[in-house]
Amino acid sequence: IPLGFYWERGVTSLKEHAFIRALWDRVGYRIRDRCVVLRGNFDQSGRKGKFWRYDPLNKSLILSCVDMTNELLPNYVAKIREFRPNFIQAYPSVIAILARFMKKNSVKPFPSVEALLCGSENLYPWQRELLEEVFQCKVYTWYGHRERTALAGECEKSTYYHIQPEYGIMELINKHENAVTNKDELGEIVATGFNNFICPFIRYRTMDLAILSNAKCKCGRDYVLLSKTEGKLQYFFVDKTGSLITSFYSDEGPQSLADKIEAYQYVQNKPGKVLLNICAKSEFSNSEIGSVKRTFLDFYPRFDIEVEFVDQIPRTESGKFKFLVQKLPIEFGDFAQRK
Ligand SMILES: [Zn+2]
Repeated sequence: IPLGFYWERGVTSLKEHAFIRALWDRVGYRIRDRCVVLRGNFDQSGRKGKFWRYDPLNKSLILSCVDMTNELLPNYVAKIREFRPNFIQAYPSVIAILARFMKKNSVKPFPSVEALLCGSENLYPWQRELLEEVFQCKVYTWYGHRERTALAGECEKSTYYHIQPEYGIMELINKHENAVTNKDELGEIVATGFNNFICPFIRYRTMDLAILSNAKCKCGRDYVLLSKTEGKLQYFFVDKTGSLITSFYSDEGPQSLADKIEAYQYVQNKPGKVLLNICAKSEFSNSEIGSVKRTFLDFYPRFDIEVEFVDQIPRTESGKFKFLVQKLPIEFGDFAQRK
């Protein structure tokens, strides 16, 4: 259930804006730069048959995330090329659709684009690789969330997430509910934000997991670093013993046959068992289905996997894809007892 809360009018969003812009500054973003936006905030009601809308205030070309069909994608490419953006802001899962199309059709990158600004979802290694290859530019990501209590962004020198202490206090809590101090230890992000005094979040449990790093970054900013954020607890598989296992590598199987797949989604109803729904572009042979399963089992030997073919994979209201629909109730407490 989404949590409802108030923001401080005229304060919270402006501060948020300033913090995010300061992060983007690390990859060269300036306030007057032109952006293409693929983040699900396209106003469908005012579309009048168009898949794009120009926002003159922010110099942004906002594109619809729900019209990215094979028929329309060439128009997306043309529109972006004509607009000559300096940056593209996008959900990783959405821009990956465009990237796959561009790769398949040998579409040249957009020379004006300096970096892709990909936040709000976990950026998977295969996505970064694909995006860098197709767009030939830096892919920048950061960790933040709707409740606006914690922020940590990459920098120009590394892919560590630098925890922003001016934004809020971020704690990592381990399975014994103590502060994480060991390098490479997984912990839940617990945060206290400084930007909303109307509805303050104090030691708010985010259910997001991250890995602490003791490294110092070459950029010289003396921030505490995270080596990885692992996303929501809901994005974990539950094995037969009840342990939570990251779904981070579950894309390797479907990605090996990416050309044949429109979209896919994992569903888990039973511990130790997952269902992979595939919306396919063309028919799969038995050996291809076998190869998707085998790749999954290489990473997840303690699981059983079934593959089913479906006509469509639903998106969330904000236009995001959910890679995993976790139907089992999981909490970090369970994780603590069973790990
Ligand atoms: Zn750095």
